[in-house]
Amino acid sequence: MSNKKARTAYDPSRGPVGQIRQVLVEQAVADEPYTQRILARLGDIPTEIVADNEMFDQDLLGIDKDFATGLTKGKQILLLGRNRGRFLKACPATREYRCCDYQVLNIGMNCPMECVYCILQAYLNNPWLSFFVNTDDLFRELTEAFSAEPERVWRIGTGEFTDSLALDSLTCLSRELVSFMRDQPKAVLELKTKTDYIENLKNLEHNGRTIVAWSLNSPPIMQNEELKTASLDQRLSAAAQCAKMGYRLAFHFDPIIHHPGWQEGYRQTIKQLFEKVPAASIVWISMGALRFLPNLKSIATARFPNSGFFYNEFVLGLDNKFRYFRTLRVEMYKLIYEELKKYAATNTCIYMCMESDEIWQEVCGYTPEEDGGLATMLDRAAGLVE
Ligand code: SF4
Repeated sequence: MSNKKARTAYDPSRGPVGQIRQVLVEQAVADEPYTQRILARLGDIPTEIVADNEMFDQDLLGIDKDFATGLTKGKQILLLGRNRGRFLKACPATREYRCCDYQVLNIGMNCPMECVYCILQAYLNNPWLSFFVNTDDLFRELTEAFSAEPERVWRIGTGEFTDSLALDSLTCLSRELVSFMRDQPKAVLELKTKTDYIENLKNLEHNGRTIVAWSLNSPPIMQNEELKTASLDQRLSAAAQCAKMGYRLAFHFDPIIHHPGWQEGYRQTIKQLFEKVPAASIVWISMGALRFLPNLKSIATARFPNSGFFYNEFVLGLDNKFRYFRTLRVEMYKLIYEELKKYAATNTCIYMCMESDEIWQEVCGYTPEEDGGLATMLDRAAGLVE
């Protein structure tokens, strides 16, 4: 598929759900009203009810046993089932790097969009899309967690194992989440996306407790390596609309990828961002240079043979992920940080994801500890602490 064709596969009226070709419903949730509402919104798509033990049978689903090729088919199959584990978990960060004490709310796994660098290709142990319909358990778990530690502040996000809004035209979960978070005095929810599907965020009382976030990149990277996603213009228009609705916003330059013309590319995206979106509405902006598990390269290059960025030189980090050499990371961070600083409001927290104190010192001229620690910096930016 050419990249141009892949981009036109994105439908702004419903996000990327047009990719879904088949639905499997776990027997245990088949009669749930929520399941039925999702199926009604899916329309005329072949749907099968399956026993729990059949849910994960790749032969039954006709998915290639080769994981790389199986992924492409898997992204067209939606499984509606129960989450039998916990919904809320600490972000899987690493001790060796500065992390931000983020909590992940696991609403489902995988996503119908196709980013060449998507870490989920190497992280997940199954190739399909899944969404957990037992959201009563999700809200019960959140309520219990908040009341067990009433003094604690929480930054929670749903965009770690999926895209927060990729399936939202089907699930409408964001409406429930935003309404639930409205009444939480010590917590914020971050919805992170590469779509522009914000229909369900309209006409809600959010009370500033939901932050809507977009991943951004240099235009050639968005065009060529983020397939079936909303374009830069579409993402920024959606962000501007959310700002008008009073939502606070966040942006993530992650992964920063070295490519010909990268300086101009990142400058251009940053300029466009601040032309379209009011700086005062932005709570935080992160920067994270490309990092990946060793097996991602073989999976991604098999699936996307025209992509070249995996053939750069990388060094294996303490967290067993490949990264660019330090000098190159610092060069890219410095340029992006200085551009962001030109336009950003003084209380917007610009931070690096998973980098060491040495890199912080070189790029920003200080370490997070000198400003109370990264978690406190972000809590402060979100208005959760003084
Ligand atoms: S939008 Fe996010 S979850 Fe979906 S393919 Fe891209 S990186 Fe992966």
